[in-house]
Amino acid sequence: MSDELDLQVAFTTAAKLVGKGHLQINARFYPYAGLKSTIRLRDGAINGKVSDGYNAADLKTLTGLALDLMMKLFRIRNIGETASEYLSEFKKLDGKGMYGLHESLRMRRGREREVNPYGKNYDLEKLLEKVLADNSEVFEGVGKQTIVWSKHSSRRRLAFYDSAFSQIVVSKKFDSKAYPQYFLEYLIFHELLHAKHDVKYGGRRKVHHPEFKMDEKKFPRYFEAQHLMKNGLNSPIV
Ligand SMILES: [Zn+2]
Repeated sequence: MSDELDLQVAFTTAAKLVGKGHLQINARFYPYAGLKSTIRLRDGAINGKVSDGYNAADLKTLTGLALDLMMKLFRIRNIGETASEYLSEFKKLDGKGMYGLHESLRMRRGREREVNPYGKNYDLEKLLEKVLADNSEVFEGVGKQTIVWSKHSSRRRLAFYDSAFSQIVVSKKFDSKAYPQYFLEYLIFHELLHAKHDVKYGGRRKVHHPEFKMDEKKFPRYFEAQHLMKNGLNSPIV
């Protein structure tokens, strides 16, 4: 495991290796949903934001990652031998290594989650039961699912399905009477369909396939929910 200080060291080393050692470095881990990292040059400082999934990586790998970002930022093609070593350490993560890292990120996300389905305004467990009972023909044979509120009000994701935990996670922002109950039911319905349909990880998820979309239209108030989502909310449902 690496901490923020390691990340700062990694970025500082990388900056020296590409001849930018004079620049100020601000590097930090960021809870991106995937293994994403970004770099910006602003007011003479290098600002790096790296998915906290990478804190499973060692210092060498982090230095390689920082180098990779800086080579893109400063459009550097050729680097020295030492730098190449770091870079190849990072590139090794491709394939299985990357997948393993991604999984560990997902597992940690799960632990960070609240285990509580009971909100101030809505009881997710009850809503899940209702959706299953109202649409028993759609969800016939779908195994037991758990449902929880997300710990933080995510503006990026309304809700998502975590197949590793057979768990539906709903953004806490919906624990409000500002959102009608049928809309929450719709979110749950959508995520339950992910449990029903095969969700494949690795590479890009191709989840909302035609079969999925056909099933989704079986939600009793589908068009109303769609309307509300397009006009009142700006985040995607995943
Ligand atoms: Zn979805």
